[in-house]
Formats: sequence, structure tokens, C-alpha cells
Amino acid sequence: MYAKVIVDVAAARTDKAFDYLIPEELEEMVHPGMRVMVPFGPRSIQGFIWKVTDHTELSRVKPVKEVLDPTPVLTGEMLELGEWMAEETVCFLITAYQSMVPSAIRAKPKKIIRTNVEAAGLPEVLKPFFDGKDEAAWDDVVQTKEAASALKQMTGDGSMTVDYQLKDKTGKKMIRMVRIAGGNPEDEYSGTLGSKAVKQVQVMNWMSRHYGTKAVSVREVQDNLQVTFGVLQALIKKDFLLEESLESYRDPYENRIFTESQRPLLTNQQKEALEPVQNAMREQKYDPCLLHGVTGSGKTEVYLRAIEEVLKEEKEAIVLVPEISLTPQMVERFKARFGSEVAVLHSALSSGEKYDEWRKIHRGEVKVAVGARSAVFAPFRHLGLLIIDEEHEGSYKQEDHPRYHARQVALWRGRWHSCPVLMGSATPSLESYARASKNVYRLLEMPHRVNEAVMPEVEVMDMRKELKKGNRSAFSEQLLEKMQDRLEKKEQMVLFLNRRGYSTFVMCRSCGYTASCPHCEITLTYHHTGRQLKCHYCGYGEPLMQTCPDCHSEHIRFFGTGTQKVEEELTRLLPDAGIIRMDVDTTSRKGAHEKLLDSFRRGEADILLGTQMIAKGLDFPKITLVGVLAADTMLHLPDFRASERTFQLLTQVSGRAGRAELPGEVVVQTYTPEHYSIQHAKGHDYHSFAREEMAQRKRAGYPPYYYLTLITIAHEDAAKVMKTAARIADRLRKQLSPEAGVLGPTVSPIARIKDRYRYQCMIKYKNEPELIRILNDMNAEYQKEMAEENLTISIDMEPQMFM
Ligand code: ADP
Ligand code: ZN
Ligand code: ZN
Repeated sequence: MYAKVIVDVAAARTDKAFDYLIPEELEEMVHPGMRVMVPFGPRSIQGFIWKVTDHTELSRVKPVKEVLDPTPVLTGEMLELGEWMAEETVCFLITAYQSMVPSAIRAKPKKIIRTNVEAAGLPEVLKPFFDGKDEAAWDDVVQTKEAASALKQMTGDGSMTVDYQLKDKTGKKMIRMVRIAGGNPEDEYSGTLGSKAVKQVQVMNWMSRHYGTKAVSVREVQDNLQVTFGVLQALIKKDFLLEESLESYRDPYENRIFTESQRPLLTNQQKEALEPVQNAMREQKYDPCLLHGVTGSGKTEVYLRAIEEVLKEEKEAIVLVPEISLTPQMVERFKARFGSEVAVLHSALSSGEKYDEWRKIHRGEVKVAVGARSAVFAPFRHLGLLIIDEEHEGSYKQEDHPRYHARQVALWRGRWHSCPVLMGSATPSLESYARASKNVYRLLEMPHRVNEAVMPEVEVMDMRKELKKGNRSAFSEQLLEKMQDRLEKKEQMVLFLNRRGYSTFVMCRSCGYTASCPHCEITLTYHHTGRQLKCHYCGYGEPLMQTCPDCHSEHIRFFGTGTQKVEEELTRLLPDAGIIRMDVDTTSRKGAHEKLLDSFRRGEADILLGTQMIAKGLDFPKITLVGVLAADTMLHLPDFRASERTFQLLTQVSGRAGRAELPGEVVVQTYTPEHYSIQHAKGHDYHSFAREEMAQRKRAGYPPYYYLTLITIAHEDAAKVMKTAARIADRLRKQLSPEAGVLGPTVSPIARIKDRYRYQCMIKYKNEPELIRILNDMNAEYQKEMAEENLTISIDMEPQMFM
């Protein structure tokens, strides 16, 4: 037997399968999707088994040295998905595969066998390895074919489990569980327990109703019924309950209690949106659906109901949400409905925690995975539904290798599993909306808010007029008045400051000097904490200077409006207001984000001031005023999506107001009040915005009318970058069809990062079947320079960012 192995060397030369002999003692253990150690030149390296075959073209093959996984870490589906990703995103196969495996096991963790069988019941060949203990090292056991096949049998029938031993794992934690003894739980226990044992009867009835004979944690019983452990102990003594313990996974949400949530009656528009999704699920049909629902229309409830259907069919679901809206509030809605069926994949988890969640999915112990971008790789085997919330979010695109878009991966998996893919948004991306308009996706519309709540009134303030009046503050007169009014009424408000393309920079008023990063072509940002100037691209920092380094003037001034500066101004203008500020500085510590929001929810502050991280998902009933301090900062970025992003952001932010009984009001401050993004956001009019923006895109030849590929060339030597970029542009112009446009080369919007100069070329095309091959050839040609001279040529298919 031979293994075709994709080795862990990300280079063009090694981007293919290598054949290795499978030694006889490993034959039974080896499956595609497992990782192995193989000899490679003088070294020994890791690789994924891609295929197992019984022949090879080669006359001499070296043997596989070691098998690293007890079970495949990649399913057959994932192996194919990786091939597709490598092709579509122009990356190496190994890079695609590595991105699907949790980082905790990417190294070479030891594997431990645990047995549930008494020593006497162990097969003879395995006895010496356990030696009286219930654990043994996997690496020792799999040395011989006999022991390996005995192990395979034991794991097959569940008598043994194999697990990775992670370094940060500090012993296993056990949870105390109880379950109802005996097969058929009775409905009424008062007869058997006696009418005086009220609490005990209550426990038994509650458990049999909710769990039947399934085990439940002691904690959960106590939390739900407010009973002491003594009550449970009495039931254990009387043999009504059995006590057991369960290995606990590190559950980051373990301190929360999730009460069974009330399922609301669906509104008519929710029913209409849900029906086609349910039908596709029942008919096991691939069906991409775009759910366009205004903020507060109840999209999440549609997701929850669709998942209920999935679970009824004994299938599994993936829910993708953008990292910043993966708040505890969001997670709670899923946990409340589906409890322990849910795994959460979150970037704030430690790598051990992430692995635990992944393992629950891999072992089939959960049925729903909620998570950010990479959760799209959740290793489920029977997917019945994939959901992408806020499908327009740019963060679904990974900005580093492999540069995949989670939406594309989700659609691929939906096709593979023949199931619907539900993409939801109040402001669908124009790409998706265009596809829905052409019936490539099914369009589902929810134009009304739940309970007919009205959309908030949006007022646009012209800040140029304020400036003419002599108002230099961050607040227009009207906004300030409204804020005072809310303070008196004890209602809450959110102030939103768009930081993207907007920063607090430092400038000398005498000579115009601005502080910029010595390694990157970008101005430094002032951070009040520590009085430091920092580079947001490379992390470089320096203390704020006292005098200008160029002219030694002392007239150093801050420009732009950072959250810290606004907070200071607020404190001055409204000294009685309680303010919570949320930005990268106040939320960098783990859990800080959640603490601040909780505190705001409890009403401990009047004003929540923050960056785009507060634009999403907040659902607080007492918010009646939303202020957007500078709506147009993003409009001027060198990015064809600038208008779309502005419209999306304004819509999201205004969606925070008036979600409950109290009506909401939104104030948008801007220097370009006439811009169509701002006008249509004011009118809550997605369709008009989309029409106008589509016309713009058509005129300028941008997506969704054309596809784009961005090629960025970087090197320490500016001349080399220019020369290479010019050669690449030439080459592409010659090789691509005349219909394709090659723009550039030009200097990248950020001309230098980490001391490396950057140039870019852009390809615009409609139909270019040879493009991938041409790009791969180009990569191959520059391979040597990239490896030896540290030249980078990065290819971004359908880029989301142009920096
Ligand atoms: P969206 O995601 O579309 O902005 P949500 O799903 O957050 O909207 O719903 C907005 C609010 O309406 C939430 O508080 C939710 O609990 C509530 N809600 C959703 N569906 C219903 C319904 N059918 N009946 C009553 N309330 C609902
Ligand atoms: Zn100066
Ligand atoms: Zn820098």
C-alpha cells in the first residue's frame, strides 16, 4: 500500500502529492486525512495523507515514518474542499489544509489512549501498555501490527478513546452529573416518593420532562429549580437517581445559565422567508438563499427555526457571524435554544479551548457550530444548513493565505451536502444582491420590523454649517441638545465614531511636520494611555514628542477625532453623564468587551461611545438616540466599496435605535450631506441605494459587473519592486485575452509596510478561463526570487481590501 502525501512545505516545487510506502504494521491504521511524518530529503517532515493506493509509478519509495492522528483530521469532503480552495485562491494545497485544522494540534501533540475496560478485560497484546493504569501512550501501542489492530477494535466499539495531550491542558475536569435510574421515567413521582417530599418530586418531574433518562449536570438542576444538593443526595440514596461524572471541556460559557428561551410566534414575513429554506432542507436540495431583512425584522429567529428543523432531521448546522458581532448576547440566543448541542468557535478562545470545541464537532457531540469566518470548516459530516449572518461583511474574506471568502466556502459545502445556504443581511453586498436579482440565489425579503416597530427618524447634520457658525466641537448644536434631553429623561444613547480612515495624528502647526512610522508609509496614531504614538500596521511605537523634530517648535497639535478625545470633550460638555468608551484600547483585555456591554445594559452609564465594534448586534431597549459623529470619513478611502461600506455602516448603526417600545432617533453628522450613501441611509432605502451604486459600478467597471484580481509586489528595494511590477503587468497584458484590463502598476495605497516597498497591479475581467493557470505559471517563474531574495508577489482573487 502507498500513501500519496501532501508535505508541509509551502512552495511551488512541493505543491503536489509525494508517494510513500505504508509499512505493514501501519496498514490498518492509515486513512486519507490523517497526518504522517515522512522522510523528505535529509529531514523528516509532516504531511497529510491525501490518498491511499495500491500502486506507484516510482521504482523506489521511502516508507511513512509515523502516523500522527488516531483518526483523520480531515474528512473526504475537506480534502476535496482544499483542492478547490487551492485552485480558486491560488494557494498551495498544504496551506489550504493547514487552515482547516485547529492550531492546537498543528504541532505534534502526544496522544493518550484511555480505556473504560477493567485490566482483566484487556486483550493480551495491550495489557503491557496499560500496566494497571487506565491510560497508555498511543505512540508506544502502534509500533506493532497486532497491538494496533487490537486498539482499532477497542476504539471501534467505544471501549477506548484516543486523544491529543495538549500542553495547556491542566488535568481533566470532571462535572458531577445525575440521571434518572431505570428505563421508563414515570410522569408523576408523588405516589412513589410520598407527597411530603415536594422538592424531590419536583426534581424528578422536571428531569423526566426535560431529559428523560439522559444525564444532566447537578449544577443545571440546582440552577433551574433552586434546590440544595441535599435533595439530590436523598434521591441518589433512594436509587431514583444515579450519580456519575463527565469529563468537562473547557467551556468559556460555563458560568452562565441559559434558561429555556420563549419561542415567539413567527410573523407572517418570517414564515414566508422560512418556508423555502425548510423545503430545500426536506428535499435535500442545494439552495442558496439571500435573506434581505431590515434591522429588527427578526432574521435571527428565522435562523433559529431553520436550525430546529435541521435538528429534527438529525442533521447539523453551521452559523457564521462576523467576529465583532460574536458577542455573548448573540451566542446566548443560540445556547438558550439549543443548549449543549452548540459549539462556539471564537478567536478570543485559547487554542486549547478552540480545540475542545472543534473536537466536540469532530466527534459528533454537538450539532450546531456558531463562529466567525473559520467556523465554515467545522468538520460536520451531515450538514443540513449553513447560515451566514451579515453576509456583506468584508471580514468573511481572509486577508492572508489562503485568501478564501467564507461565503464561497459555505456555498461549496452546501452544494456538497445538498442543503440550503442562508445568507442574511439588512444591507446585502451588491455582489449577492445582483446574483439574487438574476435568480442565481433565491431572494427572501423581510421589509418590516417585528411588531411593526417603526424605523427610526434619521436627521442629517451638515457639519460645514456648524463650522461656519464657529462650532469646532465634535458635536453639532442639535445633537448636543438631544443628548441633554435624553439625559434628563434617563434614556440611553450610543455615539458612534468611525475610525476607519480616520485617526488622531500629530502635526506641527509651525512647519506642517506629521509624525509617521519609520517603517511604513503611514501616519502614527496618538494613544492617550501612555502618551504614545503607534503604528497600526507594524506595531512600532514612540513617546509623544515635546517639540517638533524638524523645526523644534512647541506648537504640536492633534488632528482628527479619536474616541479618547471625544470622551474628554463629552466629559466637559455633559459633566453629569456616565460614559462607557469602547475601542481597541478599552477592549483589548479578555472579557473586557462583554463587561462594558453588561454594564451598559444594566444602565450604569448613559452614553456608549465607540468605534465600529458597537455598530452591530446590540439590542438594548433603552437606546433612543444614536449619533454618528463623522459619517463620511470612509467615503474618501481609495476603495470602490467606500460608498457601500458607508451605507452599510449607517444602516447598521441606525438599526440600534428604537428597537423596543420607545421610538428611536438618529443623528448623522457629515461634511457631505448630499452624498447618495448618506441620503439613502437616511431614507432606510436599500433598493434605491443599490440601484444607484450598481449604475456607478457599471460605469467604472467594478464588481459585480467585473471580477477583480489584485497583485501586490513587495520588496525592500524600491527599484526592484517597480521593475518586477512592470514586468508582471506586461506579461499579464500579453497573456490575458483582450477583454481583460490590466491596471497599473501603481504604488499601493500604503506604499511601504515594515520597510518593504509595495506596488500593485489590478486585473479586471469578466470571463478569463486561463487566468488561474497564468497566475500559477507566474508564481512558478518567480519562485526562486521569492524564496531566495525575499520578494513577495501576493495574489488576491476578488479582494475586499486595497491597502
Ligand atoms: P434582526 O437580526 O433582523 O436585526 P432580531 O432577530 O435581532 O432582528 O430581532 C429583533 C427583535 O425582535 C429581537 O429582540 C427578537 O427577540 C424579537 N423577535 C424576533 N422575532 C419575533 C417574533 N416573531 N415575535 C416577537 N418578537 C420577535
Ligand atoms: Zn515643525
Ligand atoms: Zn509601521
